[in-house]
Amino acid sequence: MKFAFDNTYARLPDRFYARVSPAKVREPRVVKVNRALAEVLGLDAEQLASAEGAEVLSGNALPEGAAPIALAYAGHQFGSFVNQLGDGRAILLGEVVGKDGKRRDVQLKGAGRTPFSRGGDGRAALGPVLREYVVSEAMAALGVPTTRALAAVTTGEPVFREEVLPGAVLTRVAASHLRVGTFQFFAARGDREALSTLASYALARHYPEAAGSGNDALALLDRVIEAQASLVARWLGVGFVHGVMNTDNTSISGETIDYGPCAFLDEYDPEKKFSSIDRGGRYAFGNQPGIAQWNMLRLAEALLPLLADDKDEAVRLATERVQRFTGLFVEAHERVLRAKLGLAREEDDDLALAADLLDRLASNGVDYTLFFRRLCASAEDTAADAQVAALFAEPGAFRDWAEAWRRRLAREDVARVDDGARARAMRLVNPAFIPRNHRIEALIQAAVRGDFEPFETFVRVLERPYEDQPELAHLSEPPQLDERVQHTFCGT
Ligand code: AMP
Ligand code: MG
Repeated sequence: MKFAFDNTYARLPDRFYARVSPAKVREPRVVKVNRALAEVLGLDAEQLASAEGAEVLSGNALPEGAAPIALAYAGHQFGSFVNQLGDGRAILLGEVVGKDGKRRDVQLKGAGRTPFSRGGDGRAALGPVLREYVVSEAMAALGVPTTRALAAVTTGEPVFREEVLPGAVLTRVAASHLRVGTFQFFAARGDREALSTLASYALARHYPEAAGSGNDALALLDRVIEAQASLVARWLGVGFVHGVMNTDNTSISGETIDYGPCAFLDEYDPEKKFSSIDRGGRYAFGNQPGIAQWNMLRLAEALLPLLADDKDEAVRLATERVQRFTGLFVEAHERVLRAKLGLAREEDDDLALAADLLDRLASNGVDYTLFFRRLCASAEDTAADAQVAALFAEPGAFRDWAEAWRRRLAREDVARVDDGARARAMRLVNPAFIPRNHRIEALIQAAVRGDFEPFETFVRVLERPYEDQPELAHLSEPPQLDERVQHTFCGT
């Protein structure tokens, strides 16, 4: 099997990773191959789906040119620093430059123990693998930067969690697996040389246009802050709760990474959290911008020795840069909200209009995704208002706001956008389909019983989240009371 590997990370110094081969599994079977992504990577999807493919995607056989490594990193988990985490159940096979010219990591998640496994078994269960497959691919189709899923295979071996579950391996594809925690790993060891190597590597790999300023660390910090501010604004736009925004799960490339306990909002609630281990709600929906900024402060801290020779100057630069996050996020969030509301022009009061709406959604228990999708119809026909108002516990709460919205829309007319065009533009940013939690739970349960049809169907629907797919409309619906999923669990 031919992967066009070019493994730059494995050529960095030894202390950046551990060389380790995937452990063999008994009976690998391909569950899913992502054909479109395989194509971009220059891989033969048919071959990946074959018995030979199963050997490679499970880690039983190494493709030619692979340089398997587990990456070293540290991280703040729920606010507490752990100076060594690292890939405990993921093995990087190597990097592939795709047909689009982009370099991507190809990693097997659940491929066995590594020197970073501590007490863990290095394995993944089928449920979390399918969850990551579905949600990361949905995020990509929604237009949110994310790691991707190239394939899912079952191993034919059990994994032992609270119950015995089928084992599986996910092939994760990412712009890279560099995290804030990768920098923290070397900062914690006082390894200035490694930090400097890493900063220059990361800048050249992810933000080459920003290289050459003479201060790679500062340039990198700026770019990562911008990427994270924009990313979190997009999360809020689609109602995504990451659930475990530890610094080891914060990507330097600005992709969403780690789909452990993530979930999408059904009814809008800024305090919503799903993760069973997030007792205090640290990573609740509305806390995500603040946490992302906190994570950027941790990155700045790790980079301090590189920012300036003078310590006070380094702290001043770091503080100033991290403070920029707030403005960048607010701007990005405003852009997201304006688009959701069908506003092409900018007015000062737009954020107030959106904030008033979000308050009303929260106090009326309104489904976030359904609301905005139905609002698209209201943008071209006031008769559709009844359908929107029906989502509110108190329908008058919508009607009052809608009057203000329509007065604002009337001022759009100078931009000569007709109502039909506005509604179409709104349908390109307000999805009909999101990977709702109850659907994910149901497809996992079916898959564990051996029925992969619900998984297949959901993946297919979510390839086109912004299109009405009337024959599968039931997959867009919020959960019935008895279908509601209150908690999600880490993918361990
Ligand atoms: P996560 O919660 O997925 O961000 O993982 C946190 C840390 O625990 C990382 O260092 C993982 O590699 C490690 N880890 C999680 N699950 C396992 C497992 N089953 N075996 C070994 N290490 C694991
Ligand atoms: Mg992680």
